[in-house]
Amino acid sequence: MKLQSPKASGSWAYVDGATSFNAAIDKQLLAALDKYTGAPYQPAAGPAQPANPGSAKLSVQGSLTHAGGNFLIGRLRTSTPTGKGPGNTVETTVVYNSGTGATVSSAELIVPAHLGQLMEAAQSSAPLPLTDLAFDGAGNLTLTVPNSAPPLADTEYRTLTVPSATARPWLSELGRSVQDGAALPWKPPTPEAKALRHINCDIVACAALTYDDGPSQGTTPRLLTMLEQAGAGATFFAVGGAANYSPQIVKAENDAGFTVGDHSWNHPDLRKLSPAAIVDQIQRTNKAIKAASGEAPTLMRPPFGGVNQVVRANVEMPIILWSVDSQDWLTRDPAKYIPAIMNQVSPGAIILEHDIHATTVDHQPEVISNLQRAGYNLVTVPQLFSGIDLEPGQVFSCRGHGKDCTPSPGR
Ligand SMILES: [Zn+2]
Repeated sequence: MKLQSPKASGSWAYVDGATSFNAAIDKQLLAALDKYTGAPYQPAAGPAQPANPGSAKLSVQGSLTHAGGNFLIGRLRTSTPTGKGPGNTVETTVVYNSGTGATVSSAELIVPAHLGQLMEAAQSSAPLPLTDLAFDGAGNLTLTVPNSAPPLADTEYRTLTVPSATARPWLSELGRSVQDGAALPWKPPTPEAKALRHINCDIVACAALTYDDGPSQGTTPRLLTMLEQAGAGATFFAVGGAANYSPQIVKAENDAGFTVGDHSWNHPDLRKLSPAAIVDQIQRTNKAIKAASGEAPTLMRPPFGGVNQVVRANVEMPIILWSVDSQDWLTRDPAKYIPAIMNQVSPGAIILEHDIHATTVDHQPEVISNLQRAGYNLVTVPQLFSGIDLEPGQVFSCRGHGKDCTPSPGR
């Protein structure tokens, strides 16, 4: 994952399916970003710039320091710019157990009573910050310690190695398990469901491309290839009749990790229908999508964005609207709808387009590269709202603090 915003820059890694590990990384990152900016951090987009070591940004460096058996150790170091004073490097190391799904601090690898011996072995007179322990492939304990404490310069660290047998008696039961696994291949967690690529849209700038009214045999398969080649996530709001006619495309969308939502059976204005007719439109469509892909939709977008109390009460799914209206269906002109998208987009946006028009699909590589160059991570709607409860009958148009957007709890 890369962060390149006016306030912060750096990179770190998530592990797909390792929920508690990813959450621990996010928690530390958000705490550092909030502290640095003096307010709940807001993700910002901006064109990718070459890293500038002298710039006044929070620097974020994450790395996986150990992977073996059921255990993974990841380290995150956040440093405020030198101009803001010394001693502002914060380091966290988390130990993740793919067998239990739990994440603990690396200090728990050592029996506290043996800390003195560890300090001696590490030839350290100062108390060791036990935030950075790992094992190499032979089970030797490695510690990364600052050269001076405090204050710490950002980059002055040295790595000490304690031989496997020397370290063994000082290790906790957990520490010994980690050591025993060091020579084994890493065993990733078993995904409970289709694992979403983890991303936190409170930290990085996200936008969700959504395509309505398909699938269409003449255009949608080409669009899938374009999205996959660009590494872009997307959400398709499919019309039930079309899904029923082209189930293989719905399956291809779902198999490729895109989200397929419900856009009614034949695109009526739901506000003009009886409650029973609304329910019928939605249930028939959900059934067709489930029959095609094996997965029932969990999101609904009413045709024309037409929502009222009766629609909300009868949809029984979260209602997903948009914050960026490309009007691609109206202008059919990339010289108009691409600038429309770029002028309206902001972090957390949902972008409305239609995958049934060749004038839209033909120019998606340009839309995607413009957004990516502007710093947006293109995500599915479930990824965009990760961490936010999407209640049935509620309307969601974007994530964050913009007009009609939904912020994540506590931010
Ligand atoms: Zn539509």
